[in-house]
Amino acid sequence: MATTTALPEIHPDLRSFLSKKSHQLLIGGQRVDAASGKTFKTFNPADGEAIAEVAEADKADVDAAVKAARKALEGPWSKMSPVEREKVLHRIADLVEKHADELAQLESLDNGKTIREAKNGDLPLCVALFRYFGGWPTKIHGDTTPVSVPYYPGAKFLHYTVREPVGVVGVIVPWNFPLLMAAERLAPALACGNTVVIKPAEQTPLSALRLGELLLEAGLPEGVVNVVPGFGPTAGAALASHPDVDKITFTGSTEVGREIVKASAGNLKKLSLELGGKSPNIVFADADLEAAAKGMFMGIFYNQGQTCSAGSRVFVERSKFDELVGALAERAKTIRQGPGLDPKTQMGPLVSAEQKKRVLSYVESGKKEGAKILAGGDEAPGKGYFVKPTVFSEVKDSMKIAQEEIFGPVVCVMPFDSPEEVVTRANATPYGLVAGVWTKDIKKAHRLTQSIKAGVIWVNCYQFVDAAAPWGGFKQSGYGREKSELAIEAYTQVKSVWIDLN
Ligand code: ADP
Repeated sequence: MATTTALPEIHPDLRSFLSKKSHQLLIGGQRVDAASGKTFKTFNPADGEAIAEVAEADKADVDAAVKAARKALEGPWSKMSPVEREKVLHRIADLVEKHADELAQLESLDNGKTIREAKNGDLPLCVALFRYFGGWPTKIHGDTTPVSVPYYPGAKFLHYTVREPVGVVGVIVPWNFPLLMAAERLAPALACGNTVVIKPAEQTPLSALRLGELLLEAGLPEGVVNVVPGFGPTAGAALASHPDVDKITFTGSTEVGREIVKASAGNLKKLSLELGGKSPNIVFADADLEAAAKGMFMGIFYNQGQTCSAGSRVFVERSKFDELVGALAERAKTIRQGPGLDPKTQMGPLVSAEQKKRVLSYVESGKKEGAKILAGGDEAPGKGYFVKPTVFSEVKDSMKIAQEEIFGPVVCVMPFDSPEEVVTRANATPYGLVAGVWTKDIKKAHRLTQSIKAGVIWVNCYQFVDAAAPWGGFKQSGYGREKSELAIEAYTQVKSVWIDLN
């Protein structure tokens, strides 16, 4: 089904991918219809038109995918040497890089994000993740341990540890960075020798399916990665509760995160959860104000504000409040909104009609609770799911818009008077994913990084990530860390081996 939107210079490979009548599931290296024969549509958020018809996985398909993943785990994948695994991961990186333009367009089309962000952010990061984790298979090792046994003095043992894969990993990803989130989980999972069943978000299933094709082309054995698009309460829940899945890595809302915890209890799956945020971005009067202004803007409006790390609570020291907040509101009013695929667009639509409704209901709640709108505050005209970038001032910390994750282009700006006060207020939500601090005073910066409860803190910068830097949250923002060496721990389990030498 072709989209009705005029697609300027659409990549020929993307055109051919989209021309498929229906996009099938990927199970055991085969493209198959859902057992039920059901399909669902995915929509272009820029105009609400259907882009493609996708097979809708449910319990039976998840069962088949888990079976295929188990077979691959016990079969060819575990027999592949670490150096061969590295080669496969590097070939995946090369293929994603080769197809970056096509994948960026696909991501922009399905999710609504601007082509500039997809091309300069999502895609290079995807490649970097496969390259970084591509270096790990030959470096994952255990240790030998000098053991002494108190109740057996003088006894001699050789003790060593081995790091083994966790097993079959269920990957449940959201729609805000569909390909990037998939890569962030797949790369370490594969580096550690696991097999995967991935359920992309129902709003954005296409890039994971296209990635599935590239994985096979890269020489990944059949069944090592299985792709089962479908809905959360059906396919997602079936994966989260599956008795033969060893681990779930989930990125999404804190609310669904709780469901995942409950569903995983049956066979006590290992869990990595990356959940919501309501992150503070704190600007002191002594900061480089030009850089801080850019950081405030990017912090909230990147990806239409649909990032778990959105700097959605901006605190500005009172003496500079009017100046900085005025500039932020003026800039918000001039953002050019349009289809993500149009290179001139600065902000695309939200991902879905539902998300637009949700964000606008928060805007209404802010108005009702007495916050003042400095910019936006409304939907933007057009058929797509557009919401104007919105800046709220006169916000109280207790208001719903200051406490709950909105996941849209809506920012609360609030003045503060002292570092102690701002730290207390910054920490006063159930979340603790990221925080930003802007100051030229190095002691103040360090004092704040020590007292803010967040998994990632940026000083004089915002929204920076790298495959080598740990990512994850404090408090109700999640469990565990993704990316970096810590992901190697998260996707392996340690075996402790004793050899009696007596
Ligand atoms: P959002 O609210 O932003 O759409 P969600 O947390 O609902 O984010 O969704 C993130 C991912 O979790 C999606 O792939 C979605 O299909 C999946 N999901 C939603 N509900 C469940 C559930 N009950 N069990 C498992 N996965 C779910």
